[in-house]
Amino acid sequence: MNINEDTYRHKGLRKKLMDVLREKGISDEAVLNAMNNIPRHSFMDSAFDNIAYEDRAFPISDGQTISQPYTVAYQTQLLQIKRNEKVLEIGTGSIYQATVLAELGAKVFTIERQKNLFDKTKQYIFKSKYHNLKFFYGDGFEGLPTYAPFDKVIITAAAPFIPPKIMQQLKSGGFMVIPVDEGLQQRMLRLTKNDDGTYSEELFENFSFVPMLTGKANSILHKKV
Ligand code: SAH
Repeated sequence: MNINEDTYRHKGLRKKLMDVLREKGISDEAVLNAMNNIPRHSFMDSAFDNIAYEDRAFPISDGQTISQPYTVAYQTQLLQIKRNEKVLEIGTGSIYQATVLAELGAKVFTIERQKNLFDKTKQYIFKSKYHNLKFFYGDGFEGLPTYAPFDKVIITAAAPFIPPKIMQQLKSGGFMVIPVDEGLQQRMLRLTKNDDGTYSEELFENFSFVPMLTGKANSILHKKV
C-alpha cells in the first residue's frame, strides 16, 4: 500500500479524532473541518500508520515531534485565521500544523532551524495543492524581516521568553500564539499587539513542547560517526 494513500479507514479514524477534539473542548468548526481534510498519517513514518489518528504527539526525525492534534487544534483556534492573512509559523517540523493553516487559506511562512527537516520540505507531498505555503531555513528568533509584517504568528516550540524581533514583525492589532517557559510545561499565551507597540496578554492552558533553540542546526552535527 502507498503510505500516502488516504483510505476509508484513515478517513473514518480522522472523523473520530475530530469528535475526540470536540469532546476536549475544540469548538471552531472551520479548524476541525480543515484538520478533517488533512491526512495526518502522511506526515509521519509509515510505522505509525495504525496509530496516526490517536490524539498524541509522535516522534519525527532529528529528535523532533509532530504536535498532538489537540495542541494543533487549540493553537489554530486561538489564531482565528481568516483567508489571505499572512501567518508566520516558527518550527515547521512535520509540516502538519503549517498545512492546517494553509488549508484555512492563510498565506503561510514557516521557518525550521534543523537543516535535515528543512530539506525534507522539498519533497512535501502537497506542494501542488498549497501554493500559499512557503518554507524557510533559519532561526525563528530572527523571524522573517523581509516578509514582515504578519497578521498572526504561531510558535510551535517552547519559547524561553517572548522573542522581541518577532513581536516587531507583528502588525498592530495582530496576535501571536506562543507557548512560553523553560522546563516541562509551557503556558499558552495569546499576545495582541497594540497600536503603541505594547501588547496585551491572555493566558490559556499548559502544554508541553520541544524547546525553541537559537541558531541554525546542520544535520551533519547530529549524525553518528
Ligand atoms: N509545527 C510542527 C511541530 C514541530 S516540533 C508540526 O506540526 O509538526 C517544533 C519544531 O521547532 C522542531 O522541528 C524544531 O526543530 C523547531 N525549532 C526549534 N527552535 C526553532 C527556532 N529557533 N527556529 C525555527 N525552528 C525551531
